[in-house]
Amino acid sequence: MKKNIVAVVGRPNVGKSSLFNALSGKRISIVEDTPGVTRDRIYQDVEWGGRTFTLIDTGGIEPDTSDSIMRQMREQAEIAIETADVIVFMVDGRSGLMDADQQVADMLRRADKPVVLAVNKIDAYARDSINIYEFYELGLGDPIAVSAANRQGLGDLLEEVTGKFSDPEGFRNGEDDDHDDSISVAVIGKPNVGKSSMINKLIGDDRLLVSDIAGTTRDAVDTEVTHNGRRYIFIDTAGLRRKSKIKEQLERFMIIRSVGAIERADVAVILIDAEEGVTEQDARIAGIAHENGKAIIIAVNKWDLIEKDNKTVNEYTAKIRSVLSFIPYAEIVFISAKTGQRLNRLYDMIDTVSENHALRVQTGVLNEVLTQALAMQQPPSDKGRPLKVFYMTQVSVRPPTFVIFVNDKELMHFSYTRYIENKLREAFGFKGTPLRFIIRERKD
Ligand code: GDP
Ligand code: GDP
Repeated sequence: MKKNIVAVVGRPNVGKSSLFNALSGKRISIVEDTPGVTRDRIYQDVEWGGRTFTLIDTGGIEPDTSDSIMRQMREQAEIAIETADVIVFMVDGRSGLMDADQQVADMLRRADKPVVLAVNKIDAYARDSINIYEFYELGLGDPIAVSAANRQGLGDLLEEVTGKFSDPEGFRNGEDDDHDDSISVAVIGKPNVGKSSMINKLIGDDRLLVSDIAGTTRDAVDTEVTHNGRRYIFIDTAGLRRKSKIKEQLERFMIIRSVGAIERADVAVILIDAEEGVTEQDARIAGIAHENGKAIIIAVNKWDLIEKDNKTVNEYTAKIRSVLSFIPYAEIVFISAKTGQRLNRLYDMIDTVSENHALRVQTGVLNEVLTQALAMQQPPSDKGRPLKVFYMTQVSVRPPTFVIFVNDKELMHFSYTRYIENKLREAFGFKGTPLRFIIRERKD
């Protein structure tokens, strides 16, 4: 099941970041923060009423740049329209309706996306004195009064937002019901790394536009292909190049698009430029795929440009493993979108990692492996109190998620969970997919 994406747009200082912070207070505890990826958080999972969605922060607008504020607001609204399933348009109840609000509202009305209008800064004592009705003029439906700073009205807002999801039941943790037999593959990576060339080669015709001209824009394309009797949907972010003058903003847009593509996919193929190696941006993208529990393939493209001797692949692999040490399970393949080298291998890999991503292990077999693992390396004790691991069971797939029952959660150290993970990987493979573990306490 794919998660819905929600973006917040609006003038500077209306309270967008405050809302982002207020809503993202509760992160989902089974996802650990990925080092190096979390420092500037652009997206967050929000859980509300049993539903999980991804909230993206389209970023601040910088009044001190040569770019006009209106232009930046436009960019922000465009990216929200492009990526989000539902847009929250925030206005400031204290300053009242402004020209810039009207302009953004015009854009949003023209876009075919559900919009929820939030009037912020309606704090308790201001409730009676502020006229929220003037915001009806925006033509975006009923305004919802909130106070992001005081966390008021957020329940009403979330009710409205989640009610607009195309699947209003939303994503429920641990469930996976509506998956058809196609494999969705997000093709992500920096501009010019070869995304559209690769997809073109994979689908065997020129339906996508490949361009040498940086800055060419077109809409996101999903391409459906049948290969060896199997259906694949390639989610491409290639054409999405905005011409923002602000480097930080450009990078933010790239990341938001990657989040959008990754959310909708089962498998993330992350393209690395063979000549450049893994960059910080690549690591952030990989972090997004990891945190979202997707199967991951690192495809090192433009391999035709590399002078090789017989050590090159091993050295290159070791380097990737060390920079991307948080995804040791990721598959790595060296390809050339230009010559077509190893693209068949890539197809095979996509099949394999997607099968592993959906693999279910029966409880009996799982616990045989667990029992052996426990015998080989005893659970640790802490201050004389021994950890007891009772049994485990797999609760869901995409990614495979396991509940481990123990006597005391505090005693279950990360390193011991990692040890069990490694044993499961030895026994069942699970190549290319992350695994998740939920630790639960049981009395006896
Ligand atoms: P952004 O530029 O849209 O992200 O706005 P911020 O979240 O940075 O908020 C701008 C200012 O408005 C900050 O000084 C906030 O403290 C303030 N603010 C945000 N939400 C509220 C609110 O609900 N009530 C009041 N009175 N002030 C708020
Ligand atoms: P995108 O922005 O990621 O979609 O990148 P493109 O597919 O548009 O490719 C950018 C440039 O890299 C184009 O000039 C391609 O011809 C070139 N290119 C892509 N893949 C390869 C490859 O495997 N080898 C070489 N030598 N060039 C490539």
